[in-house]
Amino acid sequence: MRVDVGAIVENWRFFKKQAPSAAIAAVVKADAYGLGAVQASRALAQAGARVFFTATYGEALAVRRALGEGPQVFVLNGPAADDAGLMHAAKLTPVLNSLAQIKLWDARGPAALHIDTGMNRLGIGPEELAHASVALKGASLALVMSHLACASSVTHEMNALQRTRFIDAATLFPKAPLSLASTAGALIGADYHFDLIRPGIGLYGSGGLDTGNPALSTVATIEA
Ligand SMILES: *Cc1c(COP(=O)(O)O)cnc(C)c1O
Repeated sequence: MRVDVGAIVENWRFFKKQAPSAAIAAVVKADAYGLGAVQASRALAQAGARVFFTATYGEALAVRRALGEGPQVFVLNGPAADDAGLMHAAKLTPVLNSLAQIKLWDARGPAALHIDTGMNRLGIGPEELAHASVALKGASLALVMSHLACASSVTHEMNALQRTRFIDAATLFPKAPLSLASTAGALIGADYHFDLIRPGIGLYGSGGLDTGNPALSTVATIEA
């Protein structure tokens, strides 16, 4: 398989044009969807990307080592008992997905808060929000984020509902930047861009919509 990192950069620039008022992160989890997180991250950082999302501590450390201290590297799975201290030492930014992770992180450093606004069962649920905001008093929130459950269908009613829930929940964290959209969410419209968008699959050439995908650059070519 041939991987064209230049095409990854072109696709990242597509999202930059798509969301001119937002910062454009790069989701490089799962080894950049199998295409090589270190080479993808290096090319994207060179093109100006400053924010990266990985899934695990190990992935985040590899990106941190490749890019040095400047860029912000989020860890989507959040901290576990055996790696919270290591994440802090490597200046990684965990995504806190539960009250247990808020407690475990113990405001060691900046973190993101994941709010569950839909059916994905990941993040702080509505009934836990008040508790979370108290537990996070004095903590530095680098981001408040949520994930759309049905964004591949741009007209799905769930999108607007989650957006409203997200805005309501975010009022508890007035100073934090906000992020709701992954690839498909970024394509729904500017109302979904907030401060930061998080394209993953779009960087690697797939629009993420059920129909009407944009023409992205081809990243992976299989030769036989
Ligand atoms: C994987 C993931 C993304 C990227 O999603 P794509 O559909 O690949 O763009 C964004 N945010 C979160 C929380 C994710 O887990």
